[in-house]
Amino acid sequence: MANNFDVAVIGAGPGGYVAAIRAAQLGLNTVCIDEFKSADGKPSLGGTCLNVGCIPSKALLESSENYERALHKFGDHGIEIKDVSLDVATMLGRKDKIVQQFTGGISLLFKKNKITSIHGHGRLTGAGDVFQIEVTKDNGSQTIGAKHVIIATGSLPRQIEGVAVDNVRICDNTGALSLNEVPGKLGVIGAGVIGLEMGSVWRRLGSEVTVLEALPDFLAAADDAISREALRIFTKSVGLDIKLGCKIQNVKAGKKSLSVEFEHEGELRKMEFDRLVVAVGRVPNTENLGLDAVGVKVDERGFVEVDERNRTGVPNIYAIGDVVRGPMLAHKSSEEGVAVAETIAGQHGHVNLDTIPWVIYTSPEIAWVGKTEQQLKAEGRAYRSGQFPFIVSGRARALGETAGFLKMLADADSDRILGVHILGPFASELIAEAVVAMEFGATAEDIARIVHAHPSLSEAMHEAALGVDDRFLSL
Ligand code: FAD
Ligand code: NAD
Repeated sequence: MANNFDVAVIGAGPGGYVAAIRAAQLGLNTVCIDEFKSADGKPSLGGTCLNVGCIPSKALLESSENYERALHKFGDHGIEIKDVSLDVATMLGRKDKIVQQFTGGISLLFKKNKITSIHGHGRLTGAGDVFQIEVTKDNGSQTIGAKHVIIATGSLPRQIEGVAVDNVRICDNTGALSLNEVPGKLGVIGAGVIGLEMGSVWRRLGSEVTVLEALPDFLAAADDAISREALRIFTKSVGLDIKLGCKIQNVKAGKKSLSVEFEHEGELRKMEFDRLVVAVGRVPNTENLGLDAVGVKVDERGFVEVDERNRTGVPNIYAIGDVVRGPMLAHKSSEEGVAVAETIAGQHGHVNLDTIPWVIYTSPEIAWVGKTEQQLKAEGRAYRSGQFPFIVSGRARALGETAGFLKMLADADSDRILGVHILGPFASELIAEAVVAMEFGATAEDIARIVHAHPSLSEAMHEAALGVDDRFLSL
């Protein structure tokens, strides 16, 4: 195997593997180094997203939603199913199969694009015209040289001091995606994206779920109106017991149960759980990466420092994805990967961090892009808003998914769309129209004058745009 490359990518998550493919497409001789191993000990490309993140969590969300529909929703349609039962092993097997199809697909894409794929831990050992990377493999080590390096090493779950994750009883995302039975009582620490998605999965499958959140506010990054309504729905209809403003004091693993002591509303409380999921955020992964050896700097929170084009302070070393500033989202990582590969090839790669869509795959889903109403208020910016409830949508009624609303915020003078916030069915799909609109600098009036199919959920976007000018047609 030749040991000198134009580009070495460290990490094969959605940032790294996409960067490698784009670099190879642009004619650069590319190597991608990745150390991830799946539970069976085999190398598996795709990083957190494909192995223990986006893909397996969405598989389980879909399965658990189907179970809930069969139990509680089909009856409304006059469909009676007797003796609904759950086979967790089959559900997990389906999820694992989906993961394997995608991770295996990346190996094929690497072959097709003539990318050299090396399994092992990459560490930068030397700088100069050519950077040296030592790769520690299961069967020895190898040093490769590359003119350009893309760091795409992703993130790891944040730990709580004194809480030992074993991924059997006390789990991070990896264990939470593979519980082999439905726990009677599931505790979740952290009411963020993972806590809500995984809490929803196991709640639908029958667990009693309690979510302990440190902050007094629920989903602080979302628009206030969305977080308020989502909290109401998640507690009242979904059945998650969400306790805000909790200070975890200690977690003890007894023989039968896990006991969690926490302060809540001025009292010291104790709860017992069968399983615990810890989802308190993720930290950038720069473990044993050799950043010092080449002079790459990290900030006070451990993120690799980069400029707006993902350049580190060291010429020809770039960093992308979860290991740098910005939202920890797969699509953000991938777009940065494309942009950096194009920059290396002499083009002008760029990612607009202001129009990255966010999606939380709860039921109803939450999605947004752009500014929240509270941000616009804090900035003192004059805006107008239109809000349309899904209960008035014919398609939402037919689906039987009428909770939530779509809200559009537009500049009071120019009418340019500044943000769109959705709580409702297929919010993950609906948000794409808002992202396109904002990237093209569209106004609310533009959306109001575009024909939207009837009956479709997208009419909610149309109506909210009309609502910005106070001329709803269905309200
Ligand atoms: P990663 O995917 O973390 O990949 C980094 C890779 O680099 C890993 O394979 C790692 O083993 C490898 N690596 C690290 N250091 C080295 C080294 N020194 N040498 C060799 N290899 C190394 N995002 C979404 O957009 N949508 C979702 O629905 C979504 N759901 C999620 C659900 C869960 C449960 C979790 C945990 C995350 C989810 N995310 C989601 C976030 C998403 O997974 C991440 O934003 C994304 O994976 C980041 O991509 P990345 O390429 O930067 O890093
Ligand atoms: P998060 O940042 O979304 O939420 C963590 C939550 O834990 C926060 O609400 C925080 O206040 C709380 N918290 C922190 N310390 C705590 C403590 N000691 N006790 C109780 N609560 C505490 O992080 P996450 O849910 O771990 O997810 C990590 C990242 O993965 C997300 O930020 C997101 O970028 C990504 N992700 C995305 C998706 C998606 O796009 N649908 C899904 C899952 C994960």
